[in-house]
Amino acid sequence: MAELKYRTHHGMVDLLPEETPKWRALEEIIHNTARLYHFEEIRTPIMEQTELIVRGIGALSDIVTKEIFAFEKGDDHYILRPECTAPVVRSFIEHHLDQRGGTQKLYYIGPMFRAERPQKGRQRQFHQFGLELLGSDSPLADAETIRFMIDVVNRIGVRNTTLKLNSVGDPESRARYKEILQETLKPHLSKLSELSQVRFEKNPMRILDSKEEEDQPFIEMCPSILDYLNDETAAHFEQVKGYLDASGIAYEITPRLVRGMDYYTRTAFELTSPDLGSQDALAGGGRYDLLVEELGGPATPAVGFAAGMERLLLAAEELGINLGETPTPHVYIVTRGEAAVQWASKALSELRKKNVSVTTDYQARSIKAQMKEANRVQATYAIIVGDSELEEGLFTLRNMHDSSESKVSLEEIFKRLTN
Ligand code: AMP
Repeated sequence: MAELKYRTHHGMVDLLPEETPKWRALEEIIHNTARLYHFEEIRTPIMEQTELIVRGIGALSDIVTKEIFAFEKGDDHYILRPECTAPVVRSFIEHHLDQRGGTQKLYYIGPMFRAERPQKGRQRQFHQFGLELLGSDSPLADAETIRFMIDVVNRIGVRNTTLKLNSVGDPESRARYKEILQETLKPHLSKLSELSQVRFEKNPMRILDSKEEEDQPFIEMCPSILDYLNDETAAHFEQVKGYLDASGIAYEITPRLVRGMDYYTRTAFELTSPDLGSQDALAGGGRYDLLVEELGGPATPAVGFAAGMERLLLAAEELGINLGETPTPHVYIVTRGEAAVQWASKALSELRKKNVSVTTDYQARSIKAQMKEANRVQATYAIIVGDSELEEGLFTLRNMHDSSESKVSLEEIFKRLTN
């Protein structure tokens, strides 16, 4: 075969017709669940200002240091969004959504971009859906966010998951914990990975998130943040756990879970699946009580999560779950000759006006080839039209499932097909 002249970029994937029904089914589950919880959809642009993402996610995060797609045009700095929390918060501030009153319960679905090394379950363009619940301090908001995430995953049929739960503290608890971390790690600083050494001063908690081999023994030595929570943060965490317990949601307390973005405060969580191999994180999120203010908005406590849609579909596939059906037409019009094509053109419109899904041949192929096509697309009926049929005013209506045929008038065809 000739060498391909053009192909997708590394880590960017076409969703072919065989796959899009699964995506539509997943999207429908998300929209339906959002309706049940009364979350409202928001759609923000795929590109944002680079500074928003750097400020939002943190200049020292993996995403910002290694994975962003950014470019300049004129005086503007564009970035392909690597996640959607900072964009949604930007939109919340820009459009004064707090003035709608109460808690804003928003959800989104869409593509994200990270220049990561592609592998199974890890792409450079991938899709997330997620929630942002802005304006509530209540542990109930945390619980609702986690419940929504698990509800969608369960509705897909993926049930064998682990919820890892932690509290990364409020600023006061964190300040104390950071000092302890630095004290613990300082004697070993030179043995830490280069990146962790950079993080040591500015952001020592991110060291707990390090995947570098050489950091692991020292991470093991670090005390649990849960022992350093102040009373208020500890009480919030207890209440979140209480709400989850009451709704029968199991979790594992995971004190080293800090997550990839700097904006998290208090509750942090991740949902993993044993069916996914090395890229086992299905979704993650947490509280980000300071982000709205950090990005220039009114002080607004908030909580949210994001789930990876490719990974959810991979998990479903591993479990043999069939999502979505390939759409099939109800009718295929088989034509022979120009007059028949003219007739078909009109019949296509008329049938569609009556909400009948119908297609035909566009290449003047033989009747045999057209019948084969009608089978391939799994049409329920074929109408066969040629000069003699047009003269007689009687057409062959073939039931493709049981191969029965009848010669009927156009009126009768419409009656049968629209029933
Ligand atoms: P994060 O925004 O990093 O918290 O990621 C949330 C979820 O998005 C993860 O749990 C994954 O399921 C998914 N995800 C993140 N990065 C990628 C990627 N490069 N490719 C596919 N899915 C991803």
